[in-house]
Amino acid sequence: MEEIRYKRLMLSGRETQEENSVIEISGKRIGDGGLTVIAGPCSVESESQIFSIAESVKKAGADFLRGGAYKPRTSPYDFQGLEAEGVRLLLRVREEVGIPIVTEIVDAANLDLFADIDIIQVGSRNMQNFALLKALGKTKKPILLKRGYAATYKELLTSAEYILAEGNPNVIVCERGIRTFETYTRNTLDIAAVPAIKKLSHLPIAVDPSHGSGRSEFVKALSLAAVAAGADALMIEVHNHPEEALSDGKQSITPDEFAVLINKAKAIKEVI
Ligand code: PEP
Ligand code: MN
Repeated sequence: MEEIRYKRLMLSGRETQEENSVIEISGKRIGDGGLTVIAGPCSVESESQIFSIAESVKKAGADFLRGGAYKPRTSPYDFQGLEAEGVRLLLRVREEVGIPIVTEIVDAANLDLFADIDIIQVGSRNMQNFALLKALGKTKKPILLKRGYAATYKELLTSAEYILAEGNPNVIVCERGIRTFETYTRNTLDIAAVPAIKKLSHLPIAVDPSHGSGRSEFVKALSLAAVAAGADALMIEVHNHPEEALSDGKQSITPDEFAVLINKAKAIKEVI
């Protein structure tokens, strides 16, 4: 990999593996040329909330349900998530609604609880939590590794490398917006990350337009742009009552809006 060669060739690099990696999980294939859609609330808040959202995103065609149980919030006084109870609720949804689950881990000590979770998310704030990455590398779990909000492509891929180097090849990287001088949007979604990561690496790339903009009214346009740029997956925050959400309501779209978005996104993927 031209600019990111260290002491050895990077496992994530195109020089090491020319063809795209395809991650197979729970009957789904990520990175095989199709579009994978992950949707759900920022946080798991209650049984009725997570079941209702799971049913509507599944009906609309989502492949995976997302929902944070452990929330790495900027302030310790903000809602911290339902923690272990949230993971248990997600596992019930998985069985009863029949949709695989993506949820975030913040501490390797919780790994046992995540044994039946389909994809483990590492959030932006933990992209360089190397102890956590090494622990996840010792599992075979698919990992959704989100780009740190001030991380370069090289730093994102070297973080992925920590997981790969331990023997776990199942990594999906995720562009979720970076911090710039612009304050109108919460973050600046870096669409160039998609072709750049595709050039440098064989790993699948997801795009999260919800954190990437912080504004629900921009989520559709940015999702379509991400798919047009070649994203393998979208991760979108959906809430049945965004105005009452305990976290990230401003960037959450409704199930009806999601149903429109997913059809348009799939249509664009066809053209690409
Ligand atoms: C999230 O996905 O809800 C989240 C906390 O994302 P990020 O780590 O990208 O801020
Ligand atoms: Mn969120």
